[in-house]
Amino acid sequence: MLSAIKQNDAAVFDLIEAEQARQGISIRMIPSENYVSRAVMQATGSCLTNKYAEGYPGKRYYEGQQMTDAIENLARDRAKALFGAEAANVQPHSGSPANLATYCALAEPGSTIMGLALPHGGHLTHGWKVSFTGKFFNSVQYELNAETGRMDYDAIAKLAKEHKPQILISGSSAYPREIDFSKFAEIAESVGAYHVSDMAHIAGLVAGKQHMSPVPYSDVVTTTTHKTLRGPRGGMILCKEEHAAAINKAVFPGMQGGPHMHTISALAIALGEAAAPEFADYAAQIVANAKRLADKLMGYGFDLVSGGTDNHLILIDLRNKGLVGKPLAKAMDKAHLVCNYNSVPGDTAGPFNPSGLRLGTPAITTRGMKEDQMDLVAGWINTIAENLEDDAVISKVAREVQDLCNQFPLPESFIQPG
Ligand SMILES: *Cc1c(COP(=O)(O)O)cnc(C)c1O
Repeated sequence: MLSAIKQNDAAVFDLIEAEQARQGISIRMIPSENYVSRAVMQATGSCLTNKYAEGYPGKRYYEGQQMTDAIENLARDRAKALFGAEAANVQPHSGSPANLATYCALAEPGSTIMGLALPHGGHLTHGWKVSFTGKFFNSVQYELNAETGRMDYDAIAKLAKEHKPQILISGSSAYPREIDFSKFAEIAESVGAYHVSDMAHIAGLVAGKQHMSPVPYSDVVTTTTHKTLRGPRGGMILCKEEHAAAINKAVFPGMQGGPHMHTISALAIALGEAAAPEFADYAAQIVANAKRLADKLMGYGFDLVSGGTDNHLILIDLRNKGLVGKPLAKAMDKAHLVCNYNSVPGDTAGPFNPSGLRLGTPAITTRGMKEDQMDLVAGWINTIAENLEDDAVISKVAREVQDLCNQFPLPESFIQPG
């Protein structure tokens, strides 16, 4: 598949090949990343990238939509069946435009929206001030309980009563515990707000029945498709039938032009994969791996936000170790252990030098790693944290990481065409 790139553009080819090698020799623990199947990858590189399909199936603005209509309907039907949703829009180019389109469908510029603050694990698009969602709307932000590191539903209810938001947003990018969407629904109802849940990080766990589904408790559910769901880089909106027309109008023509049909075809494939029984096993193993990694890290004296995990991610508060996130993340990267530094609840350090580290298991679980390998990973993280400046120690860990990666090549159906 890459041979034409090699022939036509050596500069880009070399970089893609180097990235493929990097992904191969790394323990990739950024919780929003994954490895897609070969089938999903091929669809994203298919002839569908050549087609304009503005509009929706049966109502397009250009001709030649025989196949695109069928593909988009397939993706929509699979999304509705997988998540038990009344309506689906598979056109958002990614998670961020899906959120902005949703707010525009349910509220007016200047309306009050309420979401989790970014330093507490909320997404930029949940109303953080540098995001247009925080500029176009009157954004009120709730926080986690600084002591427990958990959602404080009473405090959220109180804030909602005070500010009467038009939209209450649930969902997170860095919350290691199960979110009780039914409580959010109750709070939203009590103040007459729409409940929008953003399941970007956990969509694969929801599909695999490892996390409570937000669908029955939400007016609208937004998601990315490339995180635990293991599909192409894209976005999706599920909603109650009563909101479908407004959501569709907000996505197109409100926010976007032509849909990315190559991505939508890949999404249809990924949704088919996620409906298979093996996907539930995959989702269960993601959680089992995260729990094991969390237990081992706590055994080494690491302080985990909320004291553990219920899902695919772990947030380490490094303050008790006298460390901050960035130097540790950079030292780990030298040893091919890739994660990201992150704020923790109650962090007083700035966003560019926060006190936490965020780890996740979706990608390494796709590689087939299980609990035993999590023990090794925890040991390596501890070794590096204790030897941040020692290049010899870091090189030794790097060799051990490479050995493990060699033992866990991607499954045949995931190996990317080279
Ligand atoms: C990743 C993420 C998004 C945005 O996704 P992009 O595809 O990067 O735009 C939105 N919401 C949450 C909760 C996320 O974690």
